[in-house]
Amino acid sequence: MQTLTQIRALLDAHGLKPRHRLGQNFLHDKNLLRRLIEAAGITPGELVLEVGPGTGTLTEGLVACGAEVVACEIDPGLAAIVREGLGARVQLVEGDCLGRGRRLAEAVERALARRPFTLVANLPYQVASTLIVTLLVQYPACHGQFVTIQREVADRLAATPGTKTYGALTVIVGALAEVSVIARLGPACFWPRPTVGSAMVAIRPRSPAEHGIESPATMATFVTALFGRRRKQLGTIFGRDTRWPPGITGDLRPDALSIDQIVALSCLSMPS
Ligand code: SAM
Repeated sequence: MQTLTQIRALLDAHGLKPRHRLGQNFLHDKNLLRRLIEAAGITPGELVLEVGPGTGTLTEGLVACGAEVVACEIDPGLAAIVREGLGARVQLVEGDCLGRGRRLAEAVERALARRPFTLVANLPYQVASTLIVTLLVQYPACHGQFVTIQREVADRLAATPGTKTYGALTVIVGALAEVSVIARLGPACFWPRPTVGSAMVAIRPRSPAEHGIESPATMATFVTALFGRRRKQLGTIFGRDTRWPPGITGDLRPDALSIDQIVALSCLSMPS
């Protein structure tokens, strides 16, 4: 793993500067990187997806644990640093980790080859929510996500009904996984310092059937559409004559319902 001085020197040597647009805030606290890897419980030979290896500091830690790492980096300059530093010890995919239609990029899918994997990453803020949901909904082969995300996203994951932060992300992730906080990180853990705090979280999927969810994708589409009308009463959305699941009445608004209630409601079809 790399010190701040080493990270800066690697960027300088390649004529690079951190790009805010790509969420390039490098985590230089080795103890925190170790905690993330430990929480993920990586064992030798395990397949790990890392999105955004940057200069490869977390990647080095994962390789040292014996993980088989697929690392996807969008910035060609940083990809060159990873290739020089780690060579054949990681399978590097260059480009956007996300593909079309709420899937991973095809090159990432090819590298994972439908095998079970774990996501371990210090995520760029632009892709964090989409990636977390994509993996939970579309990739049952993903056994866990151990990620650093902006505090604001972590707060949305932990939000309770009736609050401003409670929304589609809270419900989709809460219905499909257990979320726990590994550590809270101040801006000083990163270079350059972001304006907001971050958190390391563990997202452990549970069986969709546990919540009576037949299709995670259908449930996610329903929840997204429902929260598109979060200020409307349910009776206005679905019609006053709807037969509501137990505990639900037509005068409630979507954001007043618990995760279980929304899942129960998802047996109704969303009017267009
Ligand atoms: N892993 C390094 C660390 O822990 O310090 C860097 C993490 S930095 C927060 C996010 C990384 O994600 C950057 O290297 C950035 O170039 C990369 N990135 C941003 N958007 C991406 C995308 N859509 N697909 C793949 N990588 C992306």
